[in-house]
Amino acid sequence: HSKFDEERLRSLIRAVPDWPEAGVMFRDITTLLQDPQGMRMVHNTFADRYRDQNITHIGALDARGFLLGAPLADALGLPLVIFRKPGKLPAETISVEYTLEYGKAALEVHKDALTENSRVVLIDDLIATGGTLLAANTLIERLGGKVIEAAAIIDLPALGGSAKLETAGIPYFALTSY
Ligand code: AMP
Repeated sequence: HSKFDEERLRSLIRAVPDWPEAGVMFRDITTLLQDPQGMRMVHNTFADRYRDQNITHIGALDARGFLLGAPLADALGLPLVIFRKPGKLPAETISVEYTLEYGKAALEVHKDALTENSRVVLIDDLIATGGTLLAANTLIERLGGKVIEAAAIIDLPALGGSAKLETAGIPYFALTSY
């Protein structure tokens, strides 16, 4: 399939200034979602990276991470585990609180979603403060699993998230950065 083209990817990401509040430059992937060839390029790039790495689960972050995690899990033939905002998961969960770029949040996962020694690739649309990915890492560690890599379409290095992941010993991978 066709090669990864970062310039093409960047042309499909819309910048919305001052949303959801003044001073935030929101990187909007809905424009990418509307481009089937661009999406296929993104999915293929992630699938190629994580094929044959002895990954056991794809962990997708609520909500835009679901749009990337589901096709990745399908492409690799792996189970999909969803990390959700509080109150969404019906069975027994574990939960962690964290702070993010705009506000406070919590993340939950089903207790039985992972087993000891799981090797997880986490995926979300964007790394900002890294709070969400670190929260998911905490939940995975509590269940006895390990994050092999945290993947995103976009890294915002100025917000410090990717550096925080590195400090925590979690490899990360982003297709582009701003
Ligand atoms: P964080 O936990 O701070 O790394 O941010 C996690 C989530 O917030 C990401 O999954 C994004 O969906 C969203 N987010 C944070 N900052 C932005 C931004 N500037 N543009 C688009 N989405 C953002």
